Amino acid sequence: MNSRLNTDVLIIGSGIAGLFAALKISEYADVILVTKKDKDESNTNYAQGGIASVTSKYDSFENHIKDTIATGAGLCNEKMVRIMVEEGPQRVKDLIEIGTHFSKKDGEFDLALEGGHSVPRILHAKDLTGKEIETALIRKVNSIKNIEIMENTLAIDLITEHNVKKLKHSPLQSRNCWGSYVLDSYTRRVIKISAKVTILATGGLGQVYQHTTNPSIATGDGIAMAYRAGAKIANMEFIQFHPTSFYKKGNTNVSGISFLISEALRGFGGKLLTNNGKEFIHQYDERKELAPRDIVARAIDFELKKHGDQYVLLDVSHKRAEEIIDHFPNIYQYCLGEGIDITKEPIPVVPAAHYSCGGILVNEYSSASFRGLYACGEVSMTGVHGANRLASNSLLEAVVFANRAALDIERFLKESKFDFPDIPDWDDTGTLTSEEKILISHNFKALKTIMWDYVSIVRNNQQLERAAKRIDLIFQEVEDFYKRTKIFSELLELRNLITCAQVIVKSAIMRKESRGLHYTLDYPSMSNLAEDTVLQNTQL
Ligand SMILES: Cc1cc2nc3c(=O)[nH]c(=O)nc-3n(C[C@H](O)[C@H](O)[C@H](O)COP(=O)(O)OP(=O)(O)OC[C@H]3O[C@@H](n4cnc5c(N)ncnc54)[C@H](O)[C@@H]3O)c2cc1C
Repeated sequence: MNSRLNTDVLIIGSGIAGLFAALKISEYADVILVTKKDKDESNTNYAQGGIASVTSKYDSFENHIKDTIATGAGLCNEKMVRIMVEEGPQRVKDLIEIGTHFSKKDGEFDLALEGGHSVPRILHAKDLTGKEIETALIRKVNSIKNIEIMENTLAIDLITEHNVKKLKHSPLQSRNCWGSYVLDSYTRRVIKISAKVTILATGGLGQVYQHTTNPSIATGDGIAMAYRAGAKIANMEFIQFHPTSFYKKGNTNVSGISFLISEALRGFGGKLLTNNGKEFIHQYDERKELAPRDIVARAIDFELKKHGDQYVLLDVSHKRAEEIIDHFPNIYQYCLGEGIDITKEPIPVVPAAHYSCGGILVNEYSSASFRGLYACGEVSMTGVHGANRLASNSLLEAVVFANRAALDIERFLKESKFDFPDIPDWDDTGTLTSEEKILISHNFKALKTIMWDYVSIVRNNQQLERAAKRIDLIFQEVEDFYKRTKIFSELLELRNLITCAQVIVKSAIMRKESRGLHYTLDYPSMSNLAEDTVLQNTQL
């Protein structure tokens, strides 16, 4: 393979955001899409519940906007929420046109109800919505000639002025993005891809926590790359913990992936019980099981700590067995494999890191703070989620803002002149081939444990400061290793997770209040100042 490539648009990531953007952009420009594993490996592929959008006559845009803003705890950007909600139905139609099949009942969409939604609004494909969407998108993208997909190709760093010696000190506010260095994970060769436009669609960062519903690809690469390059990153303290993931006794795998027990199960009538069978959620919120995720996750966290238990129970066994199996075939099969028949007995569940509401700060066309750099999907911070994401709004956000990126990029390509500087090739002279896997796996585990113990559902100043110090030590050790070693995927991913952890902790320390997903014992109430936390690396 060539070690230098160029294209109009480079897209990094093959989840819903990257693939949808690729489809739209291929109508007017050439696309290279790189993805670090197989093309269907993404958070998207695991989404169960569905995609929220106004499609029923019993619903309205105003209702969906109201629910989103209420969940966002005073920090949603209303203009962005309106864009997402009002453009949503058209993007859902796009998904259907490329072959996505959403579940129907009596000829109408079988809309599900989830926590925080005032009416049933969630389009789903049984409990395998993400897989259905991802499969349809990949099928379509595969049929398009001017989209080249490079699998097992991991983006390392963005190419901006900071890679070009004589431009290194250009002001951050006038920087350009000219593509990315990427690593072929098999040959370990670094390829320089020059592009007029680069889109980061790298998804989330759940792997920074010990317990997460996110697959192993979710290592926050896009956020770390953008931060290192000096782009603005916002609201990283708002990590959503899904209240209910399957509790597996002795789950010791390094990735710590926990199987998600969808919100839809509570919408379907599932009851939360303590380990000894008592209902508890009514003590925390009158909406009970349908309260927003942060409230349910915190309630479970309190109950676990109060009783010293490892898990609580989620029970749907009072519903008809055929109905349970028909609605949740995936969850039913998974639990059965773990020895639990959910038609007869409750499921042991615990909270797990699920979604990053913060990310790369973008405008209403997904444009980030550098010329030629866009971000969409979970990696971005559009402002639609505020301090807490309403269930099933993330797939919607991804398609709406990927489409908007495509619209803006068409204009940008037409109106702009592209004058690429002499971009150096990747330079690894003086580095040695050493995999020292123990350094990677040890620090990976240590980082995840620190984040889980000190920076998860309930926080306080002392623990955040302690986490910051410990993460800095890990940072020094890994950075030193990075500088003298020929790079490989696990090293790059660990390095990115460390950067994300630092940014999360810094943002959490900056927020002197409890709001939405950020709950701290030192400032237990919400302040009157509803502001985003914006970080920018100026030491370049
Ligand atoms: C278990 C689970 C259930 C969920 N259920 C729902 C739901 O029901 N409804 C909803 O709205 N949301 C749900 N979510 C959230 C939602 O799935 C994600 O927010 C959304 O799919 C993100 O899409 P994305 O395209 O931004 O990123 P992803 O789908 O995660 O795709 C990211 C892509 O980037 C690639 N990548 C990452 N780093 C690099 C790199 N350095 N170089 C190259 N490629 C890279 C990855 O390999 C992947 O292909 C769920 C999430 C999980 C984990």
